[in-house]
This record gives sequence, structure tokens and C-alpha cells, in this order.
Amino acid sequence: MHRTASLSAAIATLLLALPAAAQDFSQVKVESTKIAEGVYALKGAGGNLGLVVGEDRAFLVDDQYAPLVPKIKAAIAAITDKPVSFVLNTHWHGDHTGGNEAFAEAGALVVAHDNVRTRMSSDQFVAAFDRTVPASPKAALPVVTFNDQVTFHVGGHTVQAIHIPNGHTDGDAIVHLKEVDVVHTGDLVFYGLYPVVDYSNGGSLKGMADATARLLAMSDADTRFIPGHGPVVVGRQEIAEYLEMLRVVHARLETLIGQGKTLEQVLAAKPTAEYDAKWGQGFLPPDRWVTINYQGMTQTPDATP
Ligand SMILES: [Zn+2]
Repeated sequence: MHRTASLSAAIATLLLALPAAAQDFSQVKVESTKIAEGVYALKGAGGNLGLVVGEDRAFLVDDQYAPLVPKIKAAIAAITDKPVSFVLNTHWHGDHTGGNEAFAEAGALVVAHDNVRTRMSSDQFVAAFDRTVPASPKAALPVVTFNDQVTFHVGGHTVQAIHIPNGHTDGDAIVHLKEVDVVHTGDLVFYGLYPVVDYSNGGSLKGMADATARLLAMSDADTRFIPGHGPVVVGRQEIAEYLEMLRVVHARLETLIGQGKTLEQVLAAKPTAEYDAKWGQGFLPPDRWVTINYQGMTQTPDATP
């Protein structure tokens, strides 16, 4: 069960670098889960969505792929008749921003970190997948951008989007719902599968670990997290477990790279061994994940330490 869920989430993630037209969304179901009063997580294909329902408007975190928008709208309509006034993109990847154009046309203001708009405005190369992702249409670009943080007041909810520099990309934001103590982590957290680290777009393993430590620091035993990929809700303990995995693997890679080991030698050293049963069953198998990080840490000038 867990493995199946991880795999489907992982396959969806892999699709971030493919044009939407190349994918078949007809079989995808969009399902919602209530996380707290007025707060829901939606799962389809791609990143987990967050929905905040206020007294007179709704607020959406990420919007997956354009072909899924009718299903996402139907899932939202089953929860509330309030309009989606804001869409917040946690970063620029297509499995989190693909629905922007349709939601903007329907009246939502799309908001994201400054670097999200910049990256979506021109073609981007994702080295981890050896793919160039074309620029987004103008109508899909965020129309409000911020550099540090921004706060929304959505009915009874205070929604704070906080930029986390150089984690999964260089434009990540986490979304903290203060009253109900829920945090949407964007792709800084993949729970139960090795995470994509987009070094060519400003991400790093060290940055993801630092971001996760920050998530942990702002939480208590009651905080609930909506990870970018994996299950739609986890607690503090799962975030701590994820952080330990990131920290240990990063430290080992740093040591091996510091010793001048080649990629083959690093793979042979199996730096992820005890984590593979739990985290290596997603779409990034252990060797592939180690390779992405080795290449990122050795070839991206500012990604390490
Ligand atoms: Zn992503």
C-alpha cells in the first residue's frame, strides 16, 4: 500500500520535466483529505495541493497540471462554493504550476517567490533529468511576487508564505497556516521517497536539510505538515526522520567527495544503504539519487558544502 502510493507520487514527480501533452491524465482521480478546520489536502498527479477555505474566499497551494484543473475544481466544489481568490506556487516546477493559467482565467491571483516568475519566464534546464523545460505562457506567470515573505488573510485563517533559499530550487516557499498549525512544505519534503534536488535551478541537498531543520524548529507535537510528495499529511516525528536521513547522507557524500572518490567509488560505498528499504522504493532508486547528488555537489559551484 505504502509502496504503491510512493510509486504513483514518484512517477508523477518524474513527469515534472515532460510536457503535459505527453501524459495521460484520464485515469487520475483527485481526492481530498480534511487536515484541519477549513484546511484540506488534495492529491491527484504531481505535487500535493493545499486548500484553505475562509469565510468569503478560498486559497489554493499549488495546482498540478493543466489537464487536471477540471478535476481539481470539482474536488474543490465538493468542499466549498467560495471562489479560489489566490493560488500560491511553492516553486516553479510544472507539477505545481501547470494549472496557473486556468485558475488565473477563473479569477485567481497567482502568487509566488520572485525567482518562480523569473524561471517560468524562460526555458529552464533541469540537469537531474537532462531536460529543458520550455517557458510558461504569459498567462500562467505569477502576477504577485515576493522576496522574503507575504501574509494573506483568508477569512479566519492567517496564511503566511515564507521563502526558503536554495532548498529544492531557489524559489521555494513554505506555507504556514497559523491558527490551525498546518504547514505546506512544498517540495522541501518528500516523505517516504528520495527527494528530487534541482541543483541546476538553485537547489542543494544541504539546503533541503537546512530547510527541513527550520520546519522542525517552527513546529511542536501538534503541527501537521502537508509534504510536496508522499502522503498528504505527516507529523513532527516523520519530519525529524526525513531530516536525519538527509543529514546523514549529505555528510557521507561530503566526506567521500572530499576524499576525491569517483562516482563509481561513491556508489560502491553505498552511502544510503540503511535508508534504501524505506526511501529508495520511489521513482529515484538509490543509485540514481546518489548520482544526482554526487553530480550536483561536484559540478554546481555553490551547492556544497
Ligand atoms: Zn518540485
